[in-house]
Amino acid sequence: MKHILYSQIFIIAFLFTQILNATMIPSDTISFKNKIIPEEILEEARTALSHYPELKEVSIEFKFKSSLSKSFMKAQPKIPTLFASKSKRGYVILMSRVFKVENIQLHIKDIPKEVLIGWLGHELGHIMDYQNRSSANLVLFGIKYFFSQGYIRKAERIADTYAVTHNMKDYILATKEFILSKGDLPEIYKSRIRRLYLSPDEILMLVKEQEGN
Ligand SMILES: [Zn+2]
Repeated sequence: MKHILYSQIFIIAFLFTQILNATMIPSDTISFKNKIIPEEILEEARTALSHYPELKEVSIEFKFKSSLSKSFMKAQPKIPTLFASKSKRGYVILMSRVFKVENIQLHIKDIPKEVLIGWLGHELGHIMDYQNRSSANLVLFGIKYFFSQGYIRKAERIADTYAVTHNMKDYILATKEFILSKGDLPEIYKSRIRRLYLSPDEILMLVKEQEGN
């Protein structure tokens, strides 16, 4: 009798979690242990993640959002987990399906694979940086990032540096090249990228430094 009751509880709990999962995560999104990834970027996200074995146990959700201002992707801690212990902290990489700058629209499906991998690799670089910060430091980070261009520059360089030291140089260069020359993006966006991010030459210098060590 007792074990029948247990199995009923188990079935109910199982169904409940299935319903919960189905309502919370879009059906075209695949959940792994610690990772939630929309199917349309699954391959690229897995390639980028394979460069960061340190993030294997870290909970990261890749999520499409309809309006992201000024950026195509954005990595941030999940607010409800911000004050939890570091091991329980989760992150979300918000992405635009259609990136709109000025009067140009760039659809994610028109972005070459290696460019997308580089872009995701850069965002994972931010998460590596966040992992080294305390909750209070992350709050300060958010404030400074919002108000100071100099701070944005610093943070973006750290993210690129993580990607380069995780053997993603070629992907990062493909992403830069795409943004600065191939992607037909408006000049206003390109100049923002030039101002705040590492240039292809600086990335190559970084690689040289790495090789020298
Ligand atoms: Zn960034």
